[in-house]
Amino acid sequence: MNENRRATRARIHLKNLDHNLDCIRILVGPKRKICVAVKADAYGHGAVEVSRRALKWGVDFLAVATVPEAMILREAGIKAPIILFSIATGPEIEQIVSYGLTPFVADREYVKKISNEAGLQNRSVNVHIKIDTGMGRIGVQPDGAADLAEVIHSLTGVNLEGVCTHFPVSDSPDPEDIDFTRKQIQIFSDTIKTIKNKGIDPGILHAANSGAIIAHPEAHFDMVRPGICLYGYYPDQRMDKSTADFKPVMEFVSRPAFIKKVKKGTSISYGRTWTASGETWIASIPAGYADGFNRLLSSKAHVAIRGKLYPVAGRVCMDQFMIDLGPETDVTTDDLVILFGPDGISPDAADLGELTGTIPYEVTCAINKRVPRDYLKTQDL
Ligand SMILES: *Cc1c(COP(=O)(O)O)cnc(C)c1O
Repeated sequence: MNENRRATRARIHLKNLDHNLDCIRILVGPKRKICVAVKADAYGHGAVEVSRRALKWGVDFLAVATVPEAMILREAGIKAPIILFSIATGPEIEQIVSYGLTPFVADREYVKKISNEAGLQNRSVNVHIKIDTGMGRIGVQPDGAADLAEVIHSLTGVNLEGVCTHFPVSDSPDPEDIDFTRKQIQIFSDTIKTIKNKGIDPGILHAANSGAIIAHPEAHFDMVRPGICLYGYYPDQRMDKSTADFKPVMEFVSRPAFIKKVKKGTSISYGRTWTASGETWIASIPAGYADGFNRLLSSKAHVAIRGKLYPVAGRVCMDQFMIDLGPETDVTTDDLVILFGPDGISPDAADLGELTGTIPYEVTCAINKRVPRDYLKTQDL
């Protein structure tokens, strides 16, 4: 009986994940392959459960950032192809081969190491060439892509399964950014031609993250790589939100641990930054910045209880924070407190991101491992 019964929990609405995948399917059409980004424990939602559900829905590929992330999926029995978005270290190459991963490759030394290791293990590895068309992170420069494709073609144990690129501003409505993304798409298409001109089949072409899935249909190519929209958010809150009705998948909840009445002038929490302006009821919520409820939300955020919003009173502590229930309340320690969620009354992760100067990605990723995840398989919200 080691069940974690903490009041503070992340409820993962898997029906909303299905719904968001349906939205993506409508945006990209019936034929395109879908590769879901489940890196960073599926943006905090739980990579194994999210991957299983997404595969059951019908996605083609999973993608992670690190080799250990991929190993967790394989050890959970997941056999689907797993793309590795970042470059592995030397010692990890053995695991790329033995776990049957699909790495992004961007230079010939790395490809040769993979080929060698594949030979040693008597296996074959599918690789995707990553071209840097403007992200400036990893990738072969466009004028080196065809040569790299030739190297892969000439080696044993490595198979060129795809060619891809990545966009830094595909989610931005600014005209210069739209222009930049269009130029990247052009460079990518031109580079693909140089590979084909060598008589090499580039395989699956892919480029679109959530931003490009929503705003740049000409970048959909053969496969798309959604991340944040899968979890229910637009990558940039300025985007035209009529494109798709994505629903947040994560709901961060708790219950009051302690409720008390305080007198006018009573100060609440560290630093004494908040003082009761009259007699009021204060509830202590057993969640804090160590759980992923950012300290920058001190006296700023609201939480929802039975459809009503209540303000955070004073500083968020490591493991607790307080809310002001007002001078008269029927809230009890049995009530559910929603810190963020999909219900439309509570804030969502994008709202909390706006309050803390960050993006919804970081808000859901920040929900700490000590917060148990509950997977709701059928319930709508
Ligand atoms: C994370 C990532 C994605 C998904 O990005 P979103 O903005 O979350 O849709 C796609 N491709 C690559 C290479 C990534 O690293």
